[in-house]
Amino acid sequence: MKIAVEGCCHGELDKIYETIQFLEKKENTKVDLLLCCGDFQAVRNEGDMKCMAVPPKYRQMQSFYKYYSGEKQAPILTIFIGGNHEASNYLQELPYGGWVAPNIYYLGYAGVVNYRGVRIGGISGIFKSHDYRKGHFEHPPYTKDTIRSAYHVRNIEVFKLKQLKEPMDVFLSHDWPRSIYHYGNKKQLLKKKEFFKQEVESNTLGSPAASELLHHLQPSYWFSAHLHVKFAAFMQHPVRREVAFINKEGDQLPKATKFLALDKCLPRREFLQIIEVEHDPRKPDQLEYDLEWLSVLKATKDLLNISSQTWNMPENNGLHGRWDYSATEQTKKEVLEDLGDDLSIPQNFCVTLPFYNPNNPQHKRVASHVVNPQTTEFCARFGLIDINAKVRRNDDDSGEFDTAEDNEVDSSGSVEDPSEYSTDTSILSSSINPDEITLEDDEDEEDLSVQSVEPSPEHTPDLSVNFSNIRVLPDSMAVSSDDAMDSTNDEMERSESSQTEGEGKNPERQLKRLSDENGRGSVKIKRRNQAIYTAKDEDDELIG
Ligand SMILES: [Zn+2]
Ligand SMILES: [Zn+2]
Repeated sequence: MKIAVEGCCHGELDKIYETIQFLEKKENTKVDLLLCCGDFQAVRNEGDMKCMAVPPKYRQMQSFYKYYSGEKQAPILTIFIGGNHEASNYLQELPYGGWVAPNIYYLGYAGVVNYRGVRIGGISGIFKSHDYRKGHFEHPPYTKDTIRSAYHVRNIEVFKLKQLKEPMDVFLSHDWPRSIYHYGNKKQLLKKKEFFKQEVESNTLGSPAASELLHHLQPSYWFSAHLHVKFAAFMQHPVRREVAFINKEGDQLPKATKFLALDKCLPRREFLQIIEVEHDPRKPDQLEYDLEWLSVLKATKDLLNISSQTWNMPENNGLHGRWDYSATEQTKKEVLEDLGDDLSIPQNFCVTLPFYNPNNPQHKRVASHVVNPQTTEFCARFGLIDINAKVRRNDDDSGEFDTAEDNEVDSSGSVEDPSEYSTDTSILSSSINPDEITLEDDEDEEDLSVQSVEPSPEHTPDLSVNFSNIRVLPDSMAVSSDDAMDSTNDEMERSESSQTEGEGKNPERQLKRLSDENGRGSVKIKRRNQAIYTAKDEDDELIG
């Protein structure tokens, strides 16, 4: 089937659907599914707009509300994750995913669904080490801090995704997995985005959490956005014995990931790509739940932290009675029973708040916090807890929100621990990015200027992707706490020897093949600048 992949959406649904329809006509083809990699801006009304972290001048209603109100209908099934410019109050209503409008499905903080036999997972938000180990404590009306932290990735979501063992076809993250730029045409990337150079060279650009997931999940495709540039990479993984990627003959096969990042929806920008993905024609033409994922959600239901206290995920370190929450045949069978053998995700979209009316704008409308019946239904079905309802209850009871009274937090030995990751990502901490808006206290802001995108040949996205520069993913690519803590940890050894891609004055360090453990080769990378791996929290970030 044909999947259209979009980078950042920034509320431009009309333009995106128009472009797809234009391409369908031009190429005489049919797109089956649209995937959006965040900055979706599902803004229903003026109150939602106040929950979006953008400078006031970029607070524009855009087109989503028309799809929410029913004035327009999404012509293609659309699946998206959250980024760092979102109506966070709306996405918060659907922590486990759900319909934000008819035919438009949000994956939740993290989620996995199936469409025509293609398994699609994703994680919302961007990585910031200072919020990574907190609970989901934010709620509207947001403060100037929580309006940002609400979209920061949390360790619990990564932990849940790391329980998965079955093969993943497609995975979405808003910020790029750290290190992915070493597996594509880095020279071309840095030509387009010179200001990434320092982060790329010091291997600090991108999310270490996403990198860990990439290493673990080894999906066939990984799509990202956020940096507003098109970039393709191809990564060959070493065989992981503990994860059973086994073919029909019983052989364990190495997996490879095709990575593609796309731009935002602007004229003459490469924001859309159509990809042919093999599907199972026997599977229904509708979104389906994922048994393994639901099993993990059920198993981890008591691992809930709605406070801003930091905590660690269970691991086999003597402090936790249980650390393996992966699915078994039995737990999957139980989920199937919960579902009455019907995997289809119900079409249960409902309007929870009034929508914007251009003829009668309500500028005084406040940011609302409501419990979404879709989440209530989902939680009742699988015995889960609606984080949103619990946060509200907590708030009502205590009159105060940010307290340590949450008794479900296992804080054993965790509070004083240093962050799991020491360096930040997703950002341009010491560079100036002329393509971005500068906010006084957040460097993640992007150029949100609105320009019209006319679907014309001039703006037709380039349909070719060159997944070049095949390289082997080192076993040590995932950033561990050791990596964060121990600057002498030399498991990654970067060779400074030779130039690649013909760079002149600034020779890139080529990944050098040093060992061949699996008979397929692995790579060691030597750190040139070990200082960046010290435990210092670099989250002061804040470029001007
Ligand atoms: Zn963006
Ligand atoms: Zn973004």
